[in-house]
Amino acid sequence: MNTDTIAAIATGMTPSGIGIIRVSGEDAFKVASSVFLKKNGEPIERFEHKKAVFGYVHEHETVLDEVILLVFEAPHSFTGENIVEIQCHGGILMMQKILQLVISAGARPAEPGEFTKRAFLNGKMDLSEAEAVMDVISSQNDLALKNSVKQLRGSLYEKITKIREEILYETAFIESALDDPEHFDLEGYPDKLSVKLLRILHDLEVLSDSFDDGRILSEGVRTVIIGKPNVGKSSLLNLLAGSERAIVTEIAGTTRDTIEEKIMISGVMLNIIDTAGIRQSEDIVEQIGVRKAMEIAEDADLVIMVVDSSEVLTAEDEEILSFIKKNEKKCVILLNKSDLGSVIGPEEIACYTNNPVIIVSAKDETGIEQLKDYIVDEYSKGYLKYNDEIFITNARQKEALSRAIDSLLCVAKSITEHMPEDFYSIDLNAAYESLGTIIGEQVDDDVIEEIFQKFCMGK
Ligand code: GDP
Repeated sequence: MNTDTIAAIATGMTPSGIGIIRVSGEDAFKVASSVFLKKNGEPIERFEHKKAVFGYVHEHETVLDEVILLVFEAPHSFTGENIVEIQCHGGILMMQKILQLVISAGARPAEPGEFTKRAFLNGKMDLSEAEAVMDVISSQNDLALKNSVKQLRGSLYEKITKIREEILYETAFIESALDDPEHFDLEGYPDKLSVKLLRILHDLEVLSDSFDDGRILSEGVRTVIIGKPNVGKSSLLNLLAGSERAIVTEIAGTTRDTIEEKIMISGVMLNIIDTAGIRQSEDIVEQIGVRKAMEIAEDADLVIMVVDSSEVLTAEDEEILSFIKKNEKKCVILLNKSDLGSVIGPEEIACYTNNPVIIVSAKDETGIEQLKDYIVDEYSKGYLKYNDEIFITNARQKEALSRAIDSLLCVAKSITEHMPEDFYSIDLNAAYESLGTIIGEQVDDDVIEEIFQKFCMGK
């Protein structure tokens, strides 16, 4: 285990009132002493746990900033090591200067996620909690934050641990019975195990299914606006985004780069993948063809189809409508340009699909509220349903759950096929181990490395 001392700017890299430089490791106190003097010009003689000390950071003879040191003594700190947090003024240059100073005093720059990784390695939190730390940091809305905080408090850990204990009990029972048939009777046991398995499988499946909701919670509703050229997609997106247009990110992985726009509608985050080429830059080509847009829409949580209602439906419209029907996509259809006089109405659309239809006009700005209400209705209700439940929010956890489910299904199969009991325990064990990876009890070092690399803390 690394015991060297690490340091990083713990607050964001944007100017703010206060900035924090966190120093963690065996030499944290020594490093802090060499850059800090108390108000009376004396060095700190003793670092006391949970004490705040006012003073100055010095660079040679020069006072750099007025600061407060917060002291946490191992093992009672976030990382389990000695920690000093230097609260300075939050200008970026100042934070960087103090960090440099701390580094020249013997700390080394922390790698992304390294504080959390140390917390995990020092037993301060399980892996699902460590992942929740990352989620709390990156949560973009209240509901996602709530879920991450819940996970941080260990609710996923508790749930998984309880299920693992049940599985372990069964393995132990089978093994004892095989070793000591006189005292443990396996008569009727497979039936009992079957009942228990069904319940556990159900719990794991609910947890695994929560992934999509969890993802929507933490990342937003993956939304694609689709429609043939000139029906008003860009105009509608602009209207929907209004002044709230916030973050635009480029996403690779499609043959043509697309960009994603995040729009918050009454607490629901929409990640709109721009197929209409609204944000044009050198790399992003005008409009994505309808075919390509349909391909992108395959992964969407919500499809918003735009139709020019002032003209009759064309083959292209029909193609999109049948795509929506075939893929059973959650979709809302907007009959745009209603200000021009509509030649098609909801009845025409109903011939193709029974998805909801809203009559809008991007020009007159009508129908937009209805669209927003629909989105809020669909997605915030879903969130409320899960308010008291536990979500999984990352693909790694989902993968581990799937493996555990597969192993338990193998046990169920062995039971129906009347296989000998020692067959059960192999698969029960495998399920136990897969579940262990969720909370970090059965993970390889390289997996841990990879997980914490994703974290941006301490960057
Ligand atoms: P896109 O190609 O689907 O993104 O369509 P645009 O948003 O670029 O719109 C195409 C044209 O239709 C533009 O000239 C818009 O001003 C016009 N337009 C969009 N929505 C409406 C509407 O509701 N009513 C009218 N009359 N024109 C509209």
